[in-house]
Amino acid sequence: MLLTITTTHQPATDLGYLLYKHPDRFQTFDISYGKAHVFYTEATAERCTAALLLELDPVALVRSNDKDNSAPLAQYVNDRPYVASSFFSVAINQVFGTALSGNSRERPDLVRREIPLEATLAVVPCRGGDELIHKLFEPLGYEVFTDRHPLDPQFPQWGESRYWRVTVRARARLTDLLSHLYVLLPVLDGQKHYWVGEDELEKLLRHGDGWLEEHPHRELVVSRYLGRRRSLVREALDRLRTLDDDLPEDDADDDEVAATPRPVSLGRQRMDVVTEKLVATGAGTVLDLGCGEGKLVKELLGCPQFSRILAMDVSHRALEIAARRLKLDRMAPAKRERLELFHGSLFYRDERIEGCDAAAVVEVIEHLDPERLEAFERVLFGWTRPRWVVLTTPNAEYNVVWDTLPAGEVRHPDHRFEWSRTEFGAWITKVCEAFGYRTHELFGVGVEVTDHGHPTQGVVLCREES
Ligand code: SAH
Repeated sequence: MLLTITTTHQPATDLGYLLYKHPDRFQTFDISYGKAHVFYTEATAERCTAALLLELDPVALVRSNDKDNSAPLAQYVNDRPYVASSFFSVAINQVFGTALSGNSRERPDLVRREIPLEATLAVVPCRGGDELIHKLFEPLGYEVFTDRHPLDPQFPQWGESRYWRVTVRARARLTDLLSHLYVLLPVLDGQKHYWVGEDELEKLLRHGDGWLEEHPHRELVVSRYLGRRRSLVREALDRLRTLDDDLPEDDADDDEVAATPRPVSLGRQRMDVVTEKLVATGAGTVLDLGCGEGKLVKELLGCPQFSRILAMDVSHRALEIAARRLKLDRMAPAKRERLELFHGSLFYRDERIEGCDAAAVVEVIEHLDPERLEAFERVLFGWTRPRWVVLTTPNAEYNVVWDTLPAGEVRHPDHRFEWSRTEFGAWITKVCEAFGYRTHELFGVGVEVTDHGHPTQGVVLCREES
């Protein structure tokens, strides 16, 4: 099975630095059940193509699988050595691991840049036809070309096979292209060569980070990737939902979709807007209350203005995921020192969160029981008293705009309430009067719809000087 990756980024031979494989060398790697070869079929400044050829040993495959005697011949005569499958994902991980994880010692800036890339897979087995190939790759911004292999070119009357030659093309980051292939090849194939367990779920979430939560067919991807193991599938979908809690899809921003190949999710827009508001306050120290899985923290770490970032959540699990997503254990010490991630509840006074300039409370209050909201107000505005508070919550009036959301339902099963703009306004007035704050700015996130407002409503509050 052969994969080629081509770039016309100039100088194209930089692909060698990105893949961490020298264009002049033919290299062979031992992988489980076979060998992977890497070589370049062209390497000029204008155009460079790297090839990954996987040679599986069918006998080694049989040996690993000797408990399965159900189809003795099929053990020896099967398509596994020739097609893109989960074996291929393993090879990508083993041979291009550095590039897959988005690292490059020699070209650290290029790793983050989108460059023209084209990947061709010689034989992709696809349960679901080439329609599925389009459905999976196109939402990620790729142009997709498929060409179905006949069963045997010498006997056209035998008809078509279930194998396609597939090319995907986009301006993309190489790490993203490799992550997409890593996850989607086994999904297309629909067979896994190993037992699907907890660690597969972690791999899926790690390699799906940043794109899977927004993929319109994420249910299908997750279900097939995890071999339809229901408890794992449910857990993965739950975790993806909290990673991107703007389900259902924000289909209101058609204009943006047209302008950019990949729609910017509401969740991401919210992080950008909240970061911008926090930066504008001039705060040096900042709290992220109900930080969840650390999406805002990631943005805040990127702003040198914030010398100290304290992030708190009541959910151990969310904190664990945040630590993993932020790669805390591998974070550069200078960055790591600026961040504290800890467990705590917004219902109780906590000295650890006192003394910061600003607090962000993003999509949290709707998760609190209404009868406990006052306890939260006392903790935040009464005890903690940051000079600035940036707070967001869903705008209930917008819900009817989402045609996938049944009328009267909230957006997330854990939302205890969702407020109209008037209800939000009344709550703001109440806390300002009770605790000596004033509204600095009301804002919305996402595309505004007449009479319904923005999908997310937000406020920047400022403590009155006493
Ligand atoms: N701010 C994050 C997460 C929003 S989801 C983001 O925008 O991505 C809401 C978060 O609030 C969850 O992580 C939940 O664990 C947390 N939360 C709910 N009740 C809480 C409480 N009493 N104290 C602290 N965090 C709480």
